[in-house]
Amino acid sequence: MRITVIGLGYVGLANLTVLSGDKSLETIGFDKDFSKVAALKDGTYPFDESSLKAELALNKPLITSDPSQALKGSSAYLIAVGTPSLQDGTTDLSSLFESLSLVKAYAGQDAFVVIRSTVPVGTASDVSAFLNKGSKHSFKVISLPEFLSEGTSLLDERKPARIVVGAADKAGFEWVRTLKKREIESGVPFLEMSNESAEFAKYASNAFLAMKISFINELARYSEKNGADITAVSAAIGADPRIGSAMLKPGIGYGGSCFSKDVASLIHQAAASGTTLLLPQATAAINQTQPLYFLKKIETHTPNLKGARLVLSGLAYKAHISDIRNSMSLILASYLLAQGAELVGFDVSAEARADFKKRLPKVLVVDSLEKALKGAEALIILTEDESNGSLAEPLLIKLMKGRSIYDSHNLYPLDYFKVFNYYSVGRRDVLNGK
Ligand code: NAD
Repeated sequence: MRITVIGLGYVGLANLTVLSGDKSLETIGFDKDFSKVAALKDGTYPFDESSLKAELALNKPLITSDPSQALKGSSAYLIAVGTPSLQDGTTDLSSLFESLSLVKAYAGQDAFVVIRSTVPVGTASDVSAFLNKGSKHSFKVISLPEFLSEGTSLLDERKPARIVVGAADKAGFEWVRTLKKREIESGVPFLEMSNESAEFAKYASNAFLAMKISFINELARYSEKNGADITAVSAAIGADPRIGSAMLKPGIGYGGSCFSKDVASLIHQAAASGTTLLLPQATAAINQTQPLYFLKKIETHTPNLKGARLVLSGLAYKAHISDIRNSMSLILASYLLAQGAELVGFDVSAEARADFKKRLPKVLVVDSLEKALKGAEALIILTEDESNGSLAEPLLIKLMKGRSIYDSHNLYPLDYFKVFNYYSVGRRDVLNGK
């Protein structure tokens, strides 16, 4: 069976990598971005995920930006193009329909079209109408929402928590059952439903995860006032299996390419039907204001921001990845630059450093935390990377001019620093002196 994966970003590459490991399939990767395809052919992987990179190099699927080579005669097309949110929350489906136009033009036979991109409820039905209108061939549209997390894509693709499939008839479910035979046999739950339910399940899932983050962040604001330690509170409530500890760490809000756009899209979709979704609205509002709480802390304790050398450590939107899309580092950096601060950025990922530098050239980006810390007034920790979680105070004393650490991830116990002032989230400030 010949399968084409369309769109070779985070999702498409993870799908291509896993499918191309199955030698009973002929798998092809297609992306319209010539430079991305050329780089991939050259062995340059667009983001940091070493296991995926190694496996893709081993499986060597055909990767091309030539539509006739990629799209002619496949029996299935996995669509993994981007579906960004516009300002008003509307989902931009132009890449999706652009890729579908190519499928319609080149397929030349009946095929399954499998939507892995996150798309508004009702999209599969529109896609089916679009593909089948005036076509000699029949296209069956399957919704197979993707639930992987960046940083653990390969693992998530191989052993997802569940496979959610939306289809209009039995043939669609059976096709996915065959494709995902290994996963199903290894015990992964296989959930069959309508296309609409599958599309909705993806938004509901992301909105719920985002809501957990906003919930703990909102409580963290109150915790700073009532004397509790939000990290301890989070551990206490997360130990209840009905609640669960995942996505319950206090911080400065979620970033990344998915949660913000998916929550915005869900609110927008519901509003279009006359439904107000209060919890997703609150989730988004809390997330927008959470970094401001942290910035206020920085402004309060480092009042002379003009000309102050501040280090931002952790530029990607979370640890162990290279993606800076919607990263809180960008929000904080833009604000601090506007106050006249002199910023130095560091991330363990070279890709994250390069992308950040392109986005904010005014920030000096360096390739080691030690270099960044030299002569710095304050350190601002933005991810849970090991380099941020293993600071040795004597070295900091030697390198830094100031004595302030702002930790947005509560990586240290409150009694860890003996000389530095330590400010975290939802916990008391530790004032050791200067
Ligand atoms: P991405 O932006 O990293 O990659 C999209 C790719 O599609 C790009 O390489 C782009 O060049 C290509 N593309 C765009 N239009 C095309 C066309 N007409 N023909 C061929 N290629 C085209 O996106 P992503 O992060 O992989 O996300 C893809 C989808 O999956 C989105 O809907 C997203 O919401 C969803 N999703 C993402 C994640 C994640 O962690 N990134 C997780 C789950 C679901």
